[in-house]
Amino acid sequence: RLYNEVIELKGNIRVFCRCRPLNQDEIASGLPSVVDFDGCQDSELQIICSDSSKKQFKFDYVFGPHDNQEAIFAQTSPVVNSVLDGFNVCIFAYGQTGTGKTFTMEGTPENRGVNYRALKELFRISEQRSSTMRYELSVSMLEVYNEKIRDLLSENSDPPPKKLEIKQAAEGTQEVPGLFEARVYGTDEVWELLKTGNQIRSVGSTNANELSSRSHCLLRVTVRGENLVNGQRTRSHLWLVDLAGSERVGRIEVEGERLKESQFINKSLSALGDVIYALANKTAHIPYRNSKLTHLLQSSLGGDCKTLMFVQISPSAADLGETLCSLNFASRVR
Ligand code: ADP
Ligand code: MG
Repeated sequence: RLYNEVIELKGNIRVFCRCRPLNQDEIASGLPSVVDFDGCQDSELQIICSDSSKKQFKFDYVFGPHDNQEAIFAQTSPVVNSVLDGFNVCIFAYGQTGTGKTFTMEGTPENRGVNYRALKELFRISEQRSSTMRYELSVSMLEVYNEKIRDLLSENSDPPPKKLEIKQAAEGTQEVPGLFEARVYGTDEVWELLKTGNQIRSVGSTNANELSSRSHCLLRVTVRGENLVNGQRTRSHLWLVDLAGSERVGRIEVEGERLKESQFINKSLSALGDVIYALANKTAHIPYRNSKLTHLLQSSLGGDCKTLMFVQISPSAADLGETLCSLNFASRVR
């Protein structure tokens, strides 16, 4: 109930912050956490800066190291479920590499993340509503790397798919012609599909984890609904997006391919920030076309679409600079 009040107050854009626990190495280093929740509300946190001063940040909700995947999903499910009522929804995980973006979205087999739980919940509710509504769910999975879109579910097909492009359809929506869409009937099946997609994703890279931190991975759930009472049909999308790592890479440290990559990442993440900022401030011009990511998501960002961003942070003193950058980024779009 409280959460619904937050939704109404904040309109269609919500920002959640999630701080992961200190890992073994960080504990061994003996440095204290720089994130402080003492005396804070559910929506606040404090960062202890290197000069011991404190900076406070406020979001729609703040999750600490002790909040588990269930707790996260409990706050996320209302946004997820609105896709069954015909709303387009985007859920993003933003943050430095190693802060838990993939943990939040994908999770592990023992600790399933938002993606799996979202699908499970959508199947459950469709079943529940089956006397009045008929729903069809399908799933696509794609990657944006260096401003190129790659289909992660049809890469093994013969002949291999052409490079994917974004086209504007007659209805004004953004479509990706040729993108593979798998009709799905149950959660376990989806989990298998995602595994396949992830395998394709890492082909050709020496270090799968490293590559995944430099590309955006998007899972798109398409919901087709038919109201059995009045015959009304809807189609809506739920986008679950594991963004590329937001850490800034110094020009001195990298060159060539790696520098190009980091420039593409910076460009698309700031384009995303600009779009959400423009939407939050009801600016007349929304700059969707500045990156493949925002262009791709154009029909699902803005209007009455719902947007939720998880800003993932590390509690470690060693990451203080990046943590402040991420929190500032998130404060700007809120
Ligand atoms: P990212 O995708 O942002 O690079 P990961 O999701 O890969 O980060 O997380 C880095 C490591 O930290 C992983 O081993 C992950 O399991 C662990 N981790 C992240 N968040 C949490 C959390 N809230 N609780 C426990 N472990 C976490
Ligand atoms: Mg990751």
